Amino acid sequence: MRIHAIQTGTVAVKARQRAGSGPDPLRLINTLRDDDWTEPLPILAWVIEHPEGLIVVDTGETARSAEKGYFPRWHPYYRLGVREWVSAEQEIGPQLQRLGLSPHDVRWVVLTHLHTDHAGGLAHFPESEFLVSRKELRDASGALGKVRGYLPHRWPQWFSPTPVDCTDGPFGPIAAARRLTAAGDVTLLATPGHTRGHMSVAVDLGDQLVLLAGDTSYTQDLMLAGIADGVTNDTSTARRTLAALLEVARSRPTIYLPSHDPESTRRLAGMLPAVRQPASRTPTPRVVH
Ligand SMILES: [Zn+2]
Repeated sequence: MRIHAIQTGTVAVKARQRAGSGPDPLRLINTLRDDDWTEPLPILAWVIEHPEGLIVVDTGETARSAEKGYFPRWHPYYRLGVREWVSAEQEIGPQLQRLGLSPHDVRWVVLTHLHTDHAGGLAHFPESEFLVSRKELRDASGALGKVRGYLPHRWPQWFSPTPVDCTDGPFGPIAAARRLTAAGDVTLLATPGHTRGHMSVAVDLGDQLVLLAGDTSYTQDLMLAGIADGVTNDTSTARRTLAALLEVARSRPTIYLPSHDPESTRRLAGMLPAVRQPASRTPTPRVVH
């Protein structure tokens, strides 16, 4: 199995979006009122070359986002909270082709959530099965979805994802999960917080676990510190998710890869775990009678 990082341009957000502050009802307001911007952060998507087929996790952003009127100007988040830089060659379709992979061969596209910088490249996969959590799909759809900052009117007409319920039981400390592959080595995890229906994807490589973490946190350090972001409206759920992910990372070597962490690509290339495991002890000698 091979996993590739695909960077579809960059995004800058308010510093307080990355590390939130204040109680839930004020968190988003604090974020939008912040004068500090982050540096341009990567917008990452992933492709897994799996024996059961190609699996894409998130689709990144589209170059169309630079067109006037693409983002709704009436929405305070788009007016005050985000800047993006994406060229046509940076979209996920051309990038897959440069890796020698065809978007037409992608069996599954898993969306960690439906925010614009994860759902901007849907149009590249007209033949794939899309998987989105049922809750996320409900929250992102219709007029209320637009108020929440999603862009359902930008989804392709044919977009008809399979709603996912994580009903296969827990995955270690993660309360709810769903197996994706028949081999059982790719699992969808319910990781609510950034959005209510947010999912992450765990890829079991035997010795290591790769966690494609979406926007559970903006950096690994923020996950390790348990700091929720500045757009969640349920900080306690977000912190619970971060604590569970930390527990996973403590229990086995885990490569933690959020979508906007400038270090994610380097950590994947070097398979660098989030938490250093205790040096393996010499096996206890067996008692010979
Ligand atoms: Zn997001």
